[in-house]
Amino acid sequence: MLTDNIQRYLHKYSFQTIRLKAVLFDMDGVLYNSMIYHSKSWEETSRRYGFDLTAEESYLYEGQTGRQTINMLAERCWHRPATSEEQEKIYATKCDIFNHYPEAEPMAGAAQLLRQVKSDGFQIVLVTGSGQKTLLNRLDRNYFGIFHNDLEITSYDVHNGKPSPEPYLRGLQKAAVKPWEALVVENAPLGVQAGVAAQIFTIAVNTGPLSDKVLHDAGADLLLPSMTVLSEQWPVIRDSLA
Ligand code: MG
Repeated sequence: MLTDNIQRYLHKYSFQTIRLKAVLFDMDGVLYNSMIYHSKSWEETSRRYGFDLTAEESYLYEGQTGRQTINMLAERCWHRPATSEEQEKIYATKCDIFNHYPEAEPMAGAAQLLRQVKSDGFQIVLVTGSGQKTLLNRLDRNYFGIFHNDLEITSYDVHNGKPSPEPYLRGLQKAAVKPWEALVVENAPLGVQAGVAAQIFTIAVNTGPLSDKVLHDAGADLLLPSMTVLSEQWPVIRDSLA
C-alpha cells in the first residue's frame, strides 16, 4: 500500500524518486496534544469580540496564522477587515486565554518518532503557523536536543500562513533540500494542503475530531490514525523513502 502511495506522489509531479534528507514537523496536534485548548480559546475569544466561531469549526482553520483567522471572522461578522491593532489585540486575548488552560501534553508517540528520525540522520525542521511563545519555548524542554533555532519556521517568519505553501517552502530552504528530499507530518487540513502545495510527500496523522475524509480531500499522500502508529511504522516508511 505504501508503495502505491509513493508511486502516486512521484507520478503527480513527475519526480523520479524520493531521497529523504529532512522531515518537516507541524507542532500543534503533532508534537503537542494542544488542539483542544486552542479550539476552546478560539471559541471564547470569538464570543468576546462578537464573532461566531465555535470550537468545532476552529479545527478546520488550524494551521493558518491567528491573523488570518481573525481577518476571516472580521469579514464574516463585522463585514470589514480587522485593523492591525485589532488583529494584535484579539490574538493577544486568544494567547492569554490559552495560557490559562493546563499545559498541553506532548503528543503520545512524538518523542519516540523524533528520536528515531534524528538517529537515522535526517534533519528535523519545525514548520508551525503558531506564534504562541509558551509552546515554542517548551520545545527544548519536552524534546531535548531535537529542534534548533535555525531550523524553525513560525508565524513570525512568513507572510502567508498555511494553506499557502510558503511555510513549507521556507522550511525546505532552511534545510537546503528539494521537495522530493523531504517529508511533512501534519494533522490539520490546511497544513496538509500547504505541504502538498509545496510538492512534499505529506503524511497526515488524524489526532483530532475531524473525519479522515477531510484530510484525504486536503490531499494527504498517506493517512495514519496517530503519532504512535507513525512512530511504530517509521522503520518501514523510512526504508521506502530513503
Ligand atoms: Mg497542527
